Amino acid sequence: MQTLKMKTELLDEFLHGLKGWGELWAPVERGPSVFALEAIEDVSAVRPDALRTILPPKKLLLKPHFAMLEKRADQTETRDPGENSCGRAVLFGIHACDIHALQIMDMLYLTDFADTYYAENRKNLIIVGYGCEPDEKCFCKSMGTSTVDSGFDLFLTPLNGVFLVAVGSSRGDDIVRSMPHLFEESGPEETRAYLRRLKHREEAFQIDLDVTDLPYVLELKKDDPIWQELGKKCLCCGSCSMVCPTCSCFNISDRFSLDGTATRERSWDACLYRDYAMVAGGHNFRADRADRVKNRYYHKQEAFVREFGMPSCVGCGRCIESCPTKINVVEVFKQVRGTI
Ligand code: SF4
Ligand code: SF4
Repeated sequence: MQTLKMKTELLDEFLHGLKGWGELWAPVERGPSVFALEAIEDVSAVRPDALRTILPPKKLLLKPHFAMLEKRADQTETRDPGENSCGRAVLFGIHACDIHALQIMDMLYLTDFADTYYAENRKNLIIVGYGCEPDEKCFCKSMGTSTVDSGFDLFLTPLNGVFLVAVGSSRGDDIVRSMPHLFEESGPEETRAYLRRLKHREEAFQIDLDVTDLPYVLELKKDDPIWQELGKKCLCCGSCSMVCPTCSCFNISDRFSLDGTATRERSWDACLYRDYAMVAGGHNFRADRADRVKNRYYHKQEAFVREFGMPSCVGCGRCIESCPTKINVVEVFKQVRGTI
């Protein structure tokens, strides 16, 4: 992997240059310390120092709600109105954990039966990652996702006065070559600064999740009273699923309007919602809240590991931040292990 450096004061010019490669998306501050990924007009609004955005990058690849097919009364053909298509886009400022999350989404949506809606946007997405500092809700270090060496086109790590720029793909190389005046060779000084930063960052994590043998521990603990206790506390509001970069449940429904238009729609869904496991005839496989919240934890840390060899949690901390009843995934697993 080629590594270059870019002076910090050249960031705005770099962002302007990225706009030539597609619609630029980046974190912006929407309230005090509240960040959202948005399409960028004015590059001065970009906040590369944002920690986690409310919604993760999945919102670009599969919109929360879109029409898959539409048939109007005056047309014979059913057509895809293209509502999910994001065209060529550049996603700037996402962190190592979210890049890992995209790779997990790729496993889900691009292996065996490729999801054409996801695949089209994914192919058009340029990823420019950015090095972050953890807060008290980050546990990506425990999940092995605190650093990343693939899955991006470029990755910027802020050091003193410069960015270390890792070139992760031939497209990243093309981007660099399109603005060669911004980049210089990096040297031993930057390498030393990078290693110092890495050490400091590793020491900055405040929480950790012990994932040793976790799938088997969960199997042993499947009847533990903790799941019933959690069911009493969890509102099954679905916030944790919506903000999770790897949660991927969706629903499909048909709508008919009075003007004769028929639309097949796809929307984000959550296994935490009561109707999610309802089947024809009215039976619900997970009618109890305890069963639903337990299912989410088991899917991420047990079933996904058995299927793909890794958990589908990247430790981004969004579910901890968004839960209205303060359920904390790290504390839940500590309780499961009996360590708190
Ligand atoms: S955000 Fe909290 S209360 Fe809402 S479904 Fe998730 S765990 Fe339950
Ligand atoms: S389960 Fe929570 S911490 Fe893990 S990836 Fe999803 S939102 Fe992030």
